[in-house]
Amino acid sequence: MRLLVVVGTRPQLIKAAALLPALRRDHDVRFVDTGQHYDEGMAGSFFGELDLPRPDHTLEVAGGSVADQVARMLLALEPLLIAEAPEAVVVIGDTNSTFAGAMAAATLGIPVAHVEAGLRSHDRRMPEELNRILTDHLSSLCFAPTPTAVANLATEGIRDGVLQVGDLMQDLAARVSDGVRDPAELDRVAARPGWDAPAPRQGRYLFATVHRAENREIDAVRAWSALLGDAASGERPVLLALHPGTRNVMERLGAALPPNVHAVPPQGYRTTLALQLHAAAVLTDSGGVQREAAWLGTPCLVLRGTTEWVELLAGEGGRMVMVGLDRDLATQALARLAPLDRAAEDARRRAQTVRVESPRAAEAINEALIRGVRGR
Ligand code: UDP
Repeated sequence: MRLLVVVGTRPQLIKAAALLPALRRDHDVRFVDTGQHYDEGMAGSFFGELDLPRPDHTLEVAGGSVADQVARMLLALEPLLIAEAPEAVVVIGDTNSTFAGAMAAATLGIPVAHVEAGLRSHDRRMPEELNRILTDHLSSLCFAPTPTAVANLATEGIRDGVLQVGDLMQDLAARVSDGVRDPAELDRVAARPGWDAPAPRQGRYLFATVHRAENREIDAVRAWSALLGDAASGERPVLLALHPGTRNVMERLGAALPPNVHAVPPQGYRTTLALQLHAAAVLTDSGGVQREAAWLGTPCLVLRGTTEWVELLAGEGGRMVMVGLDRDLATQALARLAPLDRAAEDARRRAQTVRVESPRAAEAINEALIRGVRGR
């Protein structure tokens, strides 16, 4: 089948690295990058690192408001879809690129297959939630990662064309995690240019990422900075891999990070897994990072009020806790899950025993596409 896969952001490039090898075995695949994320740290570096083929088309659509960005994506995608004439368009996740890819295809009558379908935070203030809902309703095939995602789709009347395939990101984490279990990985990280922070030592640092739109409002920036400041100490610093969007907002607001909270540039995929595996704990509002921390067995504080990954919250021996931006909850959770006197030994044991299973989501998606896409 001739497929056209649309991506645009860091997590989508990472997911494409998990999906494309399987699809390319059985399909004629065209690969389009909208350019929603475009710099080296957020996009360029992943091609080399993850053996991702260069896109057949790069649209260079970044910046602007949601309406402006989506409109430009639609204008660029329509002629491209007409010229490439794919039998189906595959979109991934919940970004503007996901929705634009689905919308451009659906208006041309091309079936859409959505990977990571059915996830819901039930919070329509999140731009991602709107993208998910719209994309699922435009799709002929919905590849859901979890039982909850399947149930969410059913609640909205989407039952045909739904397949639970597992989590594509777990396929990739399974492939890479074995290779980062040696704590010597951390020495290499600190030696890289741009690392202007203490060298991470196994179990003796906290790893953080913050990038959701809700956490870029001024009150939220103040709240999560204070929370990270509470968590950090001289003997256990916070290493914050700062998303450029968050960095821009902080610069505009003139917001400074508290003592012992160190901003480092966005890291590569493998380094990010290493930094999570060997940390005392992870603090994040990222959908991908919270799942990776859970698979690696690292305690994780979710800096949001909702999660799409309820199964992980219920499982994982209570190691994943949703604290929002509540400083007291965060302090209590850290004291319980990663006490200073035990965290280094926990991290050492975790790194020795870690084993991430692949759910073979990419294979399941590929096989479903071989069986074909029927219009709903
Ligand atoms: N990630 C990365 N470098 C970083 C931070 C995150 O490679 O500095 C990876 C992370 O390991 C995960 C993915 O990016 O695989 C998650 O993407 P992101 O947090 O941007 O988006 P979300 O998952 O929240 O949609």
